[in-house]
Amino acid sequence: MALPDPHYTPAEQWGRVRTRLRRELGEDIYASWLKPLQLDACTDSHVSMAVPTRFMRDWVMTHYAERIHTLWRQECPSIRAFDVVVCPIARKSQAEKATSEVKAPNGKAALIRQESETASFLEDPTVGAALDPRYTFDNFVVGKPNELAYAAALRVADDANITFNPLFLYGGVGLGKTHLMHAIAWHIRERHPERRVIYLSAEKFMYQFIRALRSKEIMSFKEQFRSVDVLMIDDVQFIGGKDSTQEEFFHTFNALVDQNRQIILSADKSPSDLDGLEERLKSRLGCGLVADIHPTTYELRLGILQTKAESLGVSFPDKVLEFLAHKIISNVRELEGALRRIAALSSLIGRKITLEMTQEALRDLLRANERRLDIEDIQRKVAERFAIKVSDMHSVRRHRTIARPRQIAMYLAKKLTTKSLPEIGRAFGGRDHTTVMHAVRTVKTIMQSDSAFAEEVELLKRTLES
Ligand code: ADP
Ligand code: MG
Repeated sequence: MALPDPHYTPAEQWGRVRTRLRRELGEDIYASWLKPLQLDACTDSHVSMAVPTRFMRDWVMTHYAERIHTLWRQECPSIRAFDVVVCPIARKSQAEKATSEVKAPNGKAALIRQESETASFLEDPTVGAALDPRYTFDNFVVGKPNELAYAAALRVADDANITFNPLFLYGGVGLGKTHLMHAIAWHIRERHPERRVIYLSAEKFMYQFIRALRSKEIMSFKEQFRSVDVLMIDDVQFIGGKDSTQEEFFHTFNALVDQNRQIILSADKSPSDLDGLEERLKSRLGCGLVADIHPTTYELRLGILQTKAESLGVSFPDKVLEFLAHKIISNVRELEGALRRIAALSSLIGRKITLEMTQEALRDLLRANERRLDIEDIQRKVAERFAIKVSDMHSVRRHRTIARPRQIAMYLAKKLTTKSLPEIGRAFGGRDHTTVMHAVRTVKTIMQSDSAFAEEVELLKRTLES
């Protein structure tokens, strides 16, 4: 981690934070949510950012505040508070800035972006996102875990009569939700070219929506979707949040259902488990067909591997495919990645694909799938290092010699596992998630000011990871 440099001005610090956010979150999210943020005020202990609308403020606060705060603290450890204010001026200066960007000599890309951003949503025939040509029904391997979702997707694609609305597909990461949605779009495009289809991510949808709100084009925004036969919105879990805009969004949704437009949604959870949505909206989302995609089985993984191997045009020994299907269980994307890596390796070094070379080439990936570090491992290791009892990880004792290692263990649990703050709290003697959050912050802060401490924590982290 780079040491904070007092010579940077707040504007420069913000520039560095922005660069990192851009890299971490990707261009789309950055352009939609973070680029419009402007530095409003900055003191030694407090940073305030300005955005043009209340909606943006709420969105940024719920989704990105924690990360932005953390990055600011890396620039300037004394920052204790971070907030976002609504300031219409942010809109104006942003417009000015955009104009100057357009004039930049190397501003070709900026120019295009600017045009597309100011173009009316209505006139833009490509509201949706590009479709991946590989994501077709033909390339989708069907098995027990996804047969319902597949059948439902095919039905919706084939049948102009709406039988269930919305179709709600849900399941874990990398299990084929996006693939199925693109497949629907391809299928309709090919067989029923007269039907209008729009596919886009929830984030993009929300972005278009706010833009329409901002420029008072909400009526035309809704109008736009009236001429659509099939509307698909991917990853709607990103829509959570307790804003009134959410309601507006779902009014649009309701209007479409009422007008008998087919809506297809995907999410990582079932409608009833989606966070931050009102009950009546949840029930509205769940009132069509809810089809979940279960985690893959061995048979499905093997089927997918065989199909993908064939399409790569590389022959893999059965043993290798069976081995991969057995070992890589997390998601289909990793499975594909593994296959491609081995194919590339074998063609690069001109070696035959064998079980041994597979094991060798995928050592890290296999390890990650094998051993998921759990909180107990972390508690044990940290307790051992600081010579305290493992039971003290759960105890109420608050002496520094015990409380500090406990905080370190919480910090590492957050860093090294996928457990949520409440889950971590429960694993530490039923503590509250705010206690965990506080522990994580405390450890981070000390690490920034005390390099010996930081080294200690880093060392523990590396040992646990290895
Ligand atoms: P999700 O949207 O659910 O996170 P994706 O649709 O992006 O997952 O799928 C991840 C990758 O796995 C894609 O490359 C996709 O083609 C592939 N994939 C997932 N399920 C299947 C399947 N049943 N058959 C073929 N490929 C699949
Ligand atoms: Mg997806």
